[in-house]
Amino acid sequence: MTNRTAGSSAPTAQSSALFARARAVTPGGVNSPVRAFGAVGGDPRFITSAKGALITDVDGNEYVDLISSWGPMILGHAHPDVEAAVAEAASRGFSFGTPSENEVALAEEIVSRVDPVEQVRLVSSGTEATMSAVRLARGATGRAKIVKFAGCYHGHVDALLASAGSGVATFGLPDTPGVTGASAADTIVLPYNDADALRRVFAENGDEIAAVITEASPGNMGVVPPLPGFTELIRNLSAGHGALMISDEVMTGFRVSAAGWYGHEGPYDSGPADLFTFGKIMGGGFPAAAFGGRADLMAKLAPDGPVYQAGTLSGNPVATAAGIATLRGTVSHDVYPKLTRAADALRGAVHDSLDAAGVPHAVQSAGSMFSVFFLDPDAPGFDERRTRGVIDYDDARAQNVPAYAAFFHSMLDAGVHLPPSPFEAWFLSLAHDDLVLDRVIDALPAAARAAAAA
Ligand SMILES: *Cc1c(COP(=O)(O)O)cnc(C)c1O
Repeated sequence: MTNRTAGSSAPTAQSSALFARARAVTPGGVNSPVRAFGAVGGDPRFITSAKGALITDVDGNEYVDLISSWGPMILGHAHPDVEAAVAEAASRGFSFGTPSENEVALAEEIVSRVDPVEQVRLVSSGTEATMSAVRLARGATGRAKIVKFAGCYHGHVDALLASAGSGVATFGLPDTPGVTGASAADTIVLPYNDADALRRVFAENGDEIAAVITEASPGNMGVVPPLPGFTELIRNLSAGHGALMISDEVMTGFRVSAAGWYGHEGPYDSGPADLFTFGKIMGGGFPAAAFGGRADLMAKLAPDGPVYQAGTLSGNPVATAAGIATLRGTVSHDVYPKLTRAADALRGAVHDSLDAAGVPHAVQSAGSMFSVFFLDPDAPGFDERRTRGVIDYDDARAQNVPAYAAFFHSMLDAGVHLPPSPFEAWFLSLAHDDLVLDRVIDALPAAARAAAAA
């Protein structure tokens, strides 16, 4: 089959048929809610292969991919280095349930990149990483309460789902049934970037707080970087009250620099977080994630310490091989400066075409990671947001979702697959070269006009 670039007449019959089949056997037809196109409408495309910056669906349509599996595919899809490492590892067996060398090498790679991280424990998903970090923080401090920020997503951990971003934002779920009052009762949710709220909560509850968990630079309500000094304030207040700080770098880790957000904004005068969580890129597209920090704190984990944590597939030899090859590839292929260049070009083009079409918007960045907010002129606070940008979840939720949906579908018809939600970052990779970016840039003016008309 020859691939064609999608167009408004692109066939989608096979994707739609698969979606119908999927819905019969899987809730909503998907295994992670945002994939269902709920925010943008229409049927999701079922992808059958991916190479470099391109993905191909079951109807043979080819798209420039700006999802990149939500971050992991930083070298592009099926990069030869990673493919070779995976094939080599798989030829020696898939899972041993014993220690193996790749686990050590991946841990060494992470520890060598992120200064404050002396030890890591490998797990299989970002959710497991944050869940385990929270347990460790509670075990180490003997305290119960966790402070999180509205719009920050830390995976679908019960205690951390309150006012989460990502799919929870996409679907406007205020709370999730199934999370009991007891498991949410120890979670305190604050607005992001709100220094006064944070000071107040520590003044009132400081000696009950086990940890503050924050996305290192939030990317799951769209990209909302910390205001100057906010990260340091979290560090100073938590340290001053005997609480830990957990920096969730599952998305930013190894993307915005070799050492993630810490490497981009840090080191901080106030000192680093106590615990860090990683995922996405460090698995290279396979299930691998980690949490880590100071050795004295990590020593409280079983088998050395009393805090239990385990996993049948933790440190899986194939997943760790993919992760090692991906992380090493970011250096050998000089990925970070290239991502910065590509992001600059694309951000500028998006801004110019939305401006030209008269669509109010804010393009926001955390290093090379960025997202586009479609500001709603009818929403209260529009003028303020327009001048100071989007700084918290209330701002993010005031977006013009129908404008994004129109923009998204125009881009999709032109052969560019954006994230199917305005609450998500656009993910670039090494494979997004000038030729690929030109395809995206060429599609922008018509999409901007569609957004203006929505
Ligand atoms: C993706 C993400 C998670 C959850 O990771 P999963 O592997 O999907 O469980 C947690 N925290 C952040 C910041 C993320 O972006």
